[in-house]
Amino acid sequence: MIESPLLPHLGGYINGEWTAADSGRTLAVTNPVDNGHLADVASMGEAETVRAIQAAEAAFENSADLAQRREWLSAIADAIANHREEIGRILCLEHGKPLAEAQGEADYAAGFFRYAAREIDALGPRTLEERPRHCTWTVHHRPAGVVGLITPWNFPIGMIAKKLSSAIAADCPSVIKPSSKTPLTMIALFTLLDREVDLPPGKVNLVMGSAGPITQALFDAPSVRVISFTGSTEVGQTLIRQAAPGVKRLTLELGGNAPYIVFDDADLDHAADQLMGNKFRGGGQTCVCANRIFVHEAVADDFAERLARRVADLKVGDGMADGTTLGPLIDENAVAKVARHVDDALGKGAREVYRGDASGLPGTFYPPTVLLNVTEDAACYREETFGPLVPVITFSDDDQVIRMANDTDFGLACYVFTGNEARGLAAIERLRFGHAALNTGSGPTPEAPFGGMKQSGYGREGGLEGLFEFTEAQTVPVG
Ligand code: NAP
Repeated sequence: MIESPLLPHLGGYINGEWTAADSGRTLAVTNPVDNGHLADVASMGEAETVRAIQAAEAAFENSADLAQRREWLSAIADAIANHREEIGRILCLEHGKPLAEAQGEADYAAGFFRYAAREIDALGPRTLEERPRHCTWTVHHRPAGVVGLITPWNFPIGMIAKKLSSAIAADCPSVIKPSSKTPLTMIALFTLLDREVDLPPGKVNLVMGSAGPITQALFDAPSVRVISFTGSTEVGQTLIRQAAPGVKRLTLELGGNAPYIVFDDADLDHAADQLMGNKFRGGGQTCVCANRIFVHEAVADDFAERLARRVADLKVGDGMADGTTLGPLIDENAVAKVARHVDDALGKGAREVYRGDASGLPGTFYPPTVLLNVTEDAACYREETFGPLVPVITFSDDDQVIRMANDTDFGLACYVFTGNEARGLAAIERLRFGHAALNTGSGPTPEAPFGGMKQSGYGREGGLEGLFEFTEAQTVPVG
């Protein structure tokens, strides 16, 4: 069992009160490092969600000015920063990622609130310089309404920070549903909101439990105008269908299949170093992590060897233990998927360059693995592996690798490494990915918009673009 000062309650949070499920039912949360039981949290459904929406509707009646919202955002950033160690510990225990990384995620989350507080004036009204039709024209950025925020397990605080910072900046009350696999970090955040931030009741509400009934209640309520979802493309597709009757606006941050392209003129050590940080963060369970590593055939063997030496230095184990750099995967299904991708690629002619050792570890581990000469018909070429597999695919020229990189339904992140910046930028112009990095494996940051193309979704989080996600422009000509 987990004990934490940030987890005095294990219920939802509706209208400023901690609440158990009406049915009394609970949901077990486990630690993937050993499948140990951590806690039982309230398992809610439609009725609790309807009450949360009603509380949010009431909160929507009282608007807050930009100065007040800025104060709330700064207070949330401070609360997260001041409790980064404990948030990180809870996150490490329920997710499995190494403690330092989990605490880094808390810093990343605080950054979104800090950024929104700094830039909130962008949401103020804008009066046009021109006077068309003999009127003064002003554009107001009104709050869209109540918003539903649905988050995945792979960044238990990072993903809600992206959404909630923009919702508070826009003055939209929210109903939040975390992943059933990692609700404890969200409860810890709500403990801080309850104790350390002076938000009015109903401004933020937490419901946990069955995704289907909770989501349906959000779609059924006329007051809910935007649903912001981060998760798999499969679920995103069902949400698009559900959004039609109520014409709800959706922000969808969905799956990826990121290409990582290493040209023959790249600094191979730098590309390998960057790949380590990019690929193994969160155990390889991030939407932006490299899924297909394209390396020019002239340097592929050399690159794979350099990479294998680095992968051999990973310390696989309990995220709470000193020095661990690779934790467990989230569950048995995740392990089975990586195993299927490795076996499939080997069966289709790939060569194993390196495979680590995770034997003897009790939880849901898969050893880090590097494969060379992976083919275009391999499952890992098409599907997001979401685990510590590095499949290296070779190419012979720029046109070929750009065709291969774009040969996917996804368009979230891509990475290009070359010693020739003009060559890299020319490649990026032709790559259909929302986040396109040159000579860095860096993922998103609060200050810049992030989001996908194609089936990786639509809408942006972070940056000025993200700040407008929960607003409606209202144009007011005054004659
Ligand atoms: P998921 O299975 O789609 O779940 C995401 C959230 O949706 C969870 O809260 C889940 O609740 C809920 N959910 C499940 N089924 C639902 C349904 N039918 N209707 C409404 N909500 C439903 O995704 P995941 O496994 O947690 O996350 C991994 C995926 O997220 C990967 O594909 C990854 O690439 C993607 N991702 C994308 C981004 C991005 O920025 N684009 C960032 C992170 C992750 P329960 O847990 O209760 O089932």
